[in-house]
Amino acid sequence: MAAFRNSPNVLFETVVTATRRLSPGFVRVTLGDERLRELAPHQLDQRIKIMLPVTGDYPAELRAGQPEQEWRREWRSIPDRERPWLRSYTAYRTRPAAGELDLDFYLHQPHGPASGWAAAARPDDRLLLSGPHVRAGQPGYGVQWEPGPADQVLIAADETAYPAVRGILPSLGPGVRATVLLEAGAAADAATLDDVTGGHSVEVRLRGGDRGGTALTALVGDWLAEHGAAAAGSGTRFYAWVATESSKIAQVRRLFTAADVDPQQVHTQGYWHDRPSRDEAVD
Ligand SMILES: Cc1cc2nc3c(=O)[nH]c(=O)nc-3n(C[C@H](O)[C@H](O)[C@H](O)COP(=O)(O)OP(=O)(O)OC[C@H]3O[C@@H](n4cnc5c(N)ncnc54)[C@H](O)[C@@H]3O)c2cc1C
Repeated sequence: MAAFRNSPNVLFETVVTATRRLSPGFVRVTLGDERLRELAPHQLDQRIKIMLPVTGDYPAELRAGQPEQEWRREWRSIPDRERPWLRSYTAYRTRPAAGELDLDFYLHQPHGPASGWAAAARPDDRLLLSGPHVRAGQPGYGVQWEPGPADQVLIAADETAYPAVRGILPSLGPGVRATVLLEAGAAADAATLDDVTGGHSVEVRLRGGDRGGTALTALVGDWLAEHGAAAAGSGTRFYAWVATESSKIAQVRRLFTAADVDPQQVHTQGYWHDRPSRDEAVD
């Protein structure tokens, strides 16, 4: 718990104001509440936590405004069968002036608790989330995208990280050349990013019958076989950001190491586990 003593995150209570099916695999849930004006809008790949109620409603111990250290303590004290599930999502688009936030959910099959909640979400459904308060300081808290001076960037993602891709690409300056590698179960899901990938080099690989993250790992390997030497030679002018299924991350890192790319220039992150999970999935 000491780890959360200095966390800028607090609990926000929101309600669903709209839902929109973006594609077969994605639903966008818009959340609203006056107090969302106080959620720090770092955007990009900003991580927040959402809580999914197990019994239809939230235990009374969890209340809007609780700092992270406090809500974590209360959350741990709740009996297993009532304790809300915790999942990480990307606050790539907050609209503080309107007190609104969009979350894009990839609908895993079979649904886990978060995918199931999103698939069934209706206006006025409640959702508790934890994110940084604007007055807590720590600018950029929850953002992992740190390209520094790089002007050649590689962004590789499966569907769970498409919202981060959506947050990152519009932030790139005109002099930055991006290569975007996407794994997809369905081409229509990858096409949801068409409005932000324009002008960049994009390659989509369909998963077929493979486990999640397999196609993306192969795609990264193929890209490095062709461009790895140039990337390694570019030093801090190259930066890579890769997010996919957790068990594939070690292999992805090995691919960059084998290509002699400086590990400091590579951010890799496990975004989900390819198995049923009870409580916290990945951070
Ligand atoms: C920093 C960060 C940001 C993220 N942002 C987003 C985002 O914006 N959008 C997004 O969609 N995801 C995002 N993710 C990923 C998301 O947190 C995970 O996909 C999350 O675990 C989904 O939760 P869930 O409850 O739907 O599935 P989980 O319960 O976590 O299940 C995960 C996997 O297990 C499978 N599974 C579940 N139950 C069963 C079962 N009974 N039998 C067999 N298999 C099963 C599911 O099909 C799925 O493949 C992010 C992750 C991180 C770390």
